[in-house]
Amino acid sequence: MSGPAAGAAGAAAAAAGDIPAAGDIPALAARLRATLTDGQVLTDRQQLRTFECDGLAHYKVVPALVVFPHSADECATVVRECVAAGVPYVARGSGTGLSGGALPHADGVLIVTSQMRAIRSVSPQDERAVVEPGVINLDVSRAAKPHGYYYAPDPSSQQVCSIGGNVAENSGGAHCLKYGFTTNHVTGAQVVTPDGELVRLGGPAPDPPGYDLLGAFVGSEGTLGIATEVTLRLLRLPETVRTLLAAFAGTDEAGAAVSAIIGAGVVPAAIEMMDALAIEAAEAAVHCGYPEGAGAVLIVELDGPGPEVEAQFGHVERYCRDNGAFEIRIAADDTERALFWKGRKSAFAAVGRISPDYIVQDGVIPRTALPRVLRRIGEISRERGVRVANVFHAGDGNLHPLVLFDDAVEGQAEQAEEVSSEILALCIEQGGSITGEHGVGMDKAKFMPQMFTAADLDTMQLLRCAFDPRGLANPGKVFPTPRLCGEVPGRRKGAHPLQEAGLAEVF
Ligand SMILES: Cc1cc2nc3c(=O)[nH]c(=O)nc-3n(C[C@H](O)[C@H](O)[C@H](O)COP(=O)(O)OP(=O)(O)OC[C@H]3O[C@@H](n4cnc5c(N)ncnc54)[C@H](O)[C@@H]3O)c2cc1C
Repeated sequence: MSGPAAGAAGAAAAAAGDIPAAGDIPALAARLRATLTDGQVLTDRQQLRTFECDGLAHYKVVPALVVFPHSADECATVVRECVAAGVPYVARGSGTGLSGGALPHADGVLIVTSQMRAIRSVSPQDERAVVEPGVINLDVSRAAKPHGYYYAPDPSSQQVCSIGGNVAENSGGAHCLKYGFTTNHVTGAQVVTPDGELVRLGGPAPDPPGYDLLGAFVGSEGTLGIATEVTLRLLRLPETVRTLLAAFAGTDEAGAAVSAIIGAGVVPAAIEMMDALAIEAAEAAVHCGYPEGAGAVLIVELDGPGPEVEAQFGHVERYCRDNGAFEIRIAADDTERALFWKGRKSAFAAVGRISPDYIVQDGVIPRTALPRVLRRIGEISRERGVRVANVFHAGDGNLHPLVLFDDAVEGQAEQAEEVSSEILALCIEQGGSITGEHGVGMDKAKFMPQMFTAADLDTMQLLRCAFDPRGLANPGKVFPTPRLCGEVPGRRKGAHPLQEAGLAEVF
């Protein structure tokens, strides 16, 4: 870490009045109002309610305060004031997260970065862009395009989600199969640490010496600090892009085609799969015109130098046909490519057309287990009488089962929750994970002990406590609660097993 603490704004806050008593929200609000402008601090309950949930809308908590910093210094000031008042705080970008990561704390401050949206620089010579955390993902590629560059990680929410949220979740997207997740595209960040210091992790150059603190920060879900500036890697726009849509009788055949493509050493930019129920939803919502009678479709996209793409595209077509594709469409131009993607990218929201409520899951399995696991999900769905639509990043084995229910019907929500848990247990059993890209947040914290031993979780807590000994940064997320010092204000009580063994210290 390097960099001076933010000075002036902090001094101004200190001059604004006595430090409030622990948890005194009105006093904290008054101090923040004295430092920031009036419109940057929300206290009106109706306005606060607008922020009561993120994309996981069935969990709702109204925050005590909402604050919109305009700069890194202001963000650091807000954090320092929260620390001084012993008040927990939660960072929020665009609030599209699907694991309840930005769910507010009822007695805490929600720090929203939506007014920090400057793209500071786009530098094709260095293949870097430097942006504020509230910048929308797609806007980075829009800004880079005139220079012949783009930003590769492309969550389906890319028209609205923020770079800060992407960094915190280590977000993925359709094209992360070939290009890697957010962590592979962030070389540096300016961060407000949980005690309110402004520091820099990494920089424009790759791989600085020393511990990879930036690596620890990416994916830390707002528990290790708040990103206030991010340096992103830009990639050259590919010379050629070719996309096909292949229709299969079912997911077994489509899954076999995925294994054949990857097994042959072809690495497409993206391989996405949708099953019959997901196709039905997408058709109802956006009329994407996928082949009739398809029990599953694959969208396969290849990009790169023209001759290489052409050669590999022929192989991909053949692997699809060999594994039972009954129709293959090849996008003739950008308009047709956009139509193929429209069905996939709108699939989550489209499910609202066929079910009033649904849970989006995010399990990961080894790719070769796809047919087996999809078959088992089908069995669970039939046994429980709960519909499950599947739309997912097939190349990564990153499943997104959408478990459908009607909250108005008593017992259905609980049943859907049980099915959803059973699917995650299945992913773990197959050697996979409870999350591929949406994060643990609040929603999956309870599953962490199924994946990790108590010693593993304790060790993770040591890292969290090294950054945030007071446990004020996004408490209640990632780890099952209450757990050690990360979840309660104050230092952890009693020694960690690694401390007892003389292998670690808490400072
Ligand atoms: C329709 C839909 C499709 C989606 N598709 C994908 C997909 O393909 N791939 C994917 O990975 N995700 C996807 N998501 C999930 C979501 O969009 C991503 O997790 C995204 O990165 C969240 O960004 P956000 O700005 O909305 O963050 P928020 O929801 O506001 O916050 C998410 C987490 O980041 C933390 N955070 C926010 N800003 C900062 C900051 N500046 N510093 C530190 N922590 C911060 C919050 O505390 C919270 O823990 C999808 C969501 C929806 C609704």
